[in-house]
This record gives sequence, C-alpha cells and structure tokens, in this order.
Amino acid sequence: MSFLRLKEEILDPAICTGCGICTFACPVSCIHLNEKNEPMLLGECNSCGLCIKLCPRVSFDCNFSSTNNNLKVNPFVGCYENIYFGRAAAQEIRNKGSGGGIVSAVLVSALQKGLVEGSLVVEMSKTITPFYVISRSKEQVIKTAQSKYIVAPLNQILKNLKSKRGQFVLVALPCQVHAIRKLQREGPEWVSKKIKYVIGLFCASSLRRNFLDYLFWSLGVKKQDAKELQFRHRRNSTTSSLLLLTRGGTRFFIDRKDYSFLFYLFPREACLYCTDHTNEFADISVGDMRPFPKDSPNYEAIEPLQSVIIVRTKKGVELLRNTDLILFDYDVNDLIASKLTNMIDKKICSRTRMQLQARKGLSVPIIKQNMLEDYTLRGYDKKICPSNAFKAIRYAYEIAWLEVLHLTTHKTFAAILSRIPLQILKAIVSRFLRYKTWGLLKKSD
Ligand SMILES: Cc1cc2nc3c(=O)[nH]c(=O)nc-3n(C[C@H](O)[C@H](O)[C@H](O)COP(=O)(O)OP(=O)(O)OC[C@H]3O[C@@H](n4cnc5c(N)ncnc54)[C@H](O)[C@@H]3O)c2cc1C
Ligand code: SF4
Ligand code: SF4
Ligand code: SF4
Repeated sequence: MSFLRLKEEILDPAICTGCGICTFACPVSCIHLNEKNEPMLLGECNSCGLCIKLCPRVSFDCNFSSTNNNLKVNPFVGCYENIYFGRAAAQEIRNKGSGGGIVSAVLVSALQKGLVEGSLVVEMSKTITPFYVISRSKEQVIKTAQSKYIVAPLNQILKNLKSKRGQFVLVALPCQVHAIRKLQREGPEWVSKKIKYVIGLFCASSLRRNFLDYLFWSLGVKKQDAKELQFRHRRNSTTSSLLLLTRGGTRFFIDRKDYSFLFYLFPREACLYCTDHTNEFADISVGDMRPFPKDSPNYEAIEPLQSVIIVRTKKGVELLRNTDLILFDYDVNDLIASKLTNMIDKKICSRTRMQLQARKGLSVPIIKQNMLEDYTLRGYDKKICPSNAFKAIRYAYEIAWLEVLHLTTHKTFAAILSRIPLQILKAIVSRFLRYKTWGLLKKSD
C-alpha cells in the first residue's frame, strides 16, 4: 500500500477533508499539505501503508453507545446524555464568542479546575490562514475564540504535542474528530493520553480558500493589503458579522445573513460527502442556537447569540461540571427542527451524493454512522421524505447541484463566478438554489 492508493481513493475524488493525519503519520515525512490543505507526495514513499490505515476517509467506525448503555440515541444527533442551550455567564467571554461563548468558557474552566494543561484551539494567521495553537491561559483562550470557517490541519500541532507536558482539550470540527478518534484507537498510544477531552463544533460545511479570493475581489481589496479577517466579529450584543480590516485601517463588515449563502458556492468538496452535522463523537458538541419559532412559548424568552450544547460522554459531564454557564434544557426535537436543513443535508442528501459518486465509479468515504432514508419525527405529523416523487425530485436536484459545485472547482467557471458581484450572487442563490425543508414538518401537538 502506497501513497498512490491514497491519491486514487481519497485525493482524486476530492473526498479529503484536509485533516493532516496522513502528513502526521508518514514515518518518512514525504506527505506535505499545500496551501489548500491538499496532501502531496514530496519525496520517496516506502509503501508502509500508514497513511491509508489512519485516514478517516478511508474508513471510520466508532460506537459510543456500546460503551455506555445509558446514552440516548437519535438518528439525527447521535448518542447523547443531555442537551442544553445557553451561554457563558462571564460577559467578557460571552462578548468574544461566536455564539454564547460556551466553548471558551469550558476551556477556561478546564484550565482553572486543573483538568488540563492547555487547549488546542484555532487562531488566524496574518496571511489569513487558520492554524492550531496551544492556549494555556484565559487571555489566550479569549483571544482565539470565534469560528474560522476554513479547516486548520492537525498535523503540526500533533507533532508538537508529543513532547509537551500534561494533558489537553482539543476543539475540532466533526471530520477532525473522526480523525482524532481513529488516531486514538489505531495510532500511537500517547495521542489518547495527551488529548484527554474533545469539544466538537457543529458543522454544515467549511469554505475553500478561493472564497477569500472572491471576498477580496468583491470588496476591492488586494490580498496583500488584508490585515485581519474575523468571520464572527461581534458588532454589538445581538449581531455578529464578517470583518475585514486592511493595512490602511479600512474596516469592511458583511452581516452573517449576507455572506452565509457563500458556503453553498465555495464549500470544500469533501463536505458534500460528510454525514456528521452535530459532531457525534466529541465529548461535548457545541453549535449555534437558532431562535425558537415565533409561535413557541420560548420565543420571547431567549436572548440572541446563544449556543446549543450536546453532552455525550462522562468526560463531557466532567467538563461542564462547575463551569460558569447559564444553561436551559433543550428538547431534541426542537434542536432537530431548528436545524432541519442541515440535518437533512448530512443524513439524507450526503447519502444521495455518495450513491451518485459511487455510480460513477468514484470512491466515497466509508463512515459507519446513522443515515436516513425515510423518517418520521415523533410528535410531528409529516415525514421528511413524503413520497417517491419527492425522492426523485431530490435525486435530480442533487445531480444538478453536484454538477454546479464541481464546475466551481474548474478554473474558467470559477473565474466567471468570481466576477459576479456579491449582491447578485446572493439573489441568484437564495432565489433558485436552496429549497426550504422547514415546510415539510409540522408539530402535531
Ligand atoms: C467551519 C465551521 C462550520 C460551522 N458550522 C456550523 C453550523 O452549520 N451550525 C452551527 O450551529 N454551528 C456551526 N459552527 C460552530 C459555531 O460557529 C460556533 O463555533 C459554535 O457555536 C461555538 O460557539 P461558542 O460561542 O461557544 O464558541 P467560542 O467561544 O467562540 O469558541 C470557538 C472555539 O472554536 C475554535 N475554532 C474556531 N475555528 C475553528 C476551526 N476551523 N476548527 C477547529 N476549531 C475552531 C476556536 O479556537 C475557539 O476555541 C461551525 C464552526 C466552524 C468552525
Ligand atoms: S511512506 Fe507510508 S505513510 Fe508515507 S506516503 Fe508512503 S505509504 Fe503513506
Ligand atoms: S482526509 Fe486527512 S488523512 Fe485522509 S488524505 Fe485527507 S488529509 Fe490525509
Ligand atoms: S462539513 Fe464535514 S467535512 Fe466539511 S468541514 Fe464540516 S465536518 Fe469537515
């Protein structure tokens, strides 16, 4: 088994997530990640097969419910003990967070309780490239808060971690958590010891790097003039927006609702074949809280910018214990309904895309996880896939959608796309490309 197999099965069909595990694992250091986080062979492969063995996209199989019988299991969110929504109690943390500042508050508390020596979190470099760092103080945790919507590979931080004293908590996206869980089971023993806890972020998709080219072009900023980019800059207590700061001191803001559609046009291709929205294998998973529907009794009560927290393991309970958070119980069905489009995308559409790719003879990730074909939520009176006609339309939609997205990776098409102004692109995408899933479900009581 050599790098060639990794190339043919994972890199050529573009199902590589850019986690960096193959680079970390290669004993002769001949796999390098390029600036798009794509592994490349630079040097001589000795065919040891380690990269194939540890790549989470070659295969992934991890079962939490077999280790704890008390866990509830749900086909959309995986295994869990409890679900909450809420926020960090400390205003200085909450004000810096992407949502309720839950992740940062838990990291600070883990440090203060002496559970860990530090946390592995993501910072944005001066060249607008996210990378993992070790953060050992409250100030560092707060400085590295907020989501960076581009994947940061794990290879370098893992290499550094081996020689570090103590144990750590890792914050990671679902595909990275798959990579770490596999490494903890099948890789070197020290990885399990060093990475004591895993906090997972929910994830719908991450952005390809050409998103940045588009952003700079649409704002009329040269790449080299960009000084800082924040995806979730807090403009006030209720809104967060993208902030681009130039070296000349100009600040550009784009509200989240005005750029989130770009996730559909510039997703990493691997995200199309991803089956995990809520980070099912983390100790706790944290996502953005969507407001309750207007007819809900809780609608008025909830403040904006809070987080959803899914506690999945005993370690997760340990992390939350005595952490200064304001938490409320959250019903699993309310969580599913509030994120239904993403849930369906990962649990039904990803499967359809994988089937389509497999029919073309291309390899797809082999991930053992709950998937859905036809599902009725308890307490709701409609099915998600109401009829065969609906399924057929869905299938046709997926084919069209895949083709458009594959086109966006071709240079000429990408060049045309990157010359359409932001507002017009937004109008096209919101008008034609996204269907609304919300309407398919109605609560029956
Ligand atoms: C690519 C991406 C896609 C996401 N998609 C969704 C979604 O579809 N739905 C949803 O509900 N939530 C999504 N999230 C999670 C959401 O944006 C918030 O990160 C989450 O709600 C936690 O908010 P917080 O205020 O508790 O975290 P904060 O207190 O702001 O802490 C966030 C932590 O995440 C770390 N981090 C930032 N970027 C990355 C990264 N790229 N990789 C690993 N760690 C990182 C930071 O270093 C920090 O420690 C996504 C996040 C990312 C990075
Ligand atoms: S030497 Fe081993 S780990 Fe490195 S590329 Fe070759 S097969 Fe993969
Ligand atoms: S998914 Fe990770 S391990 Fe697999 S090829 Fe890509 S970077 Fe390497
Ligand atoms: S959608 Fe899946 S593959 Fe893409 S970044 Fe998120 S977790 Fe990784």
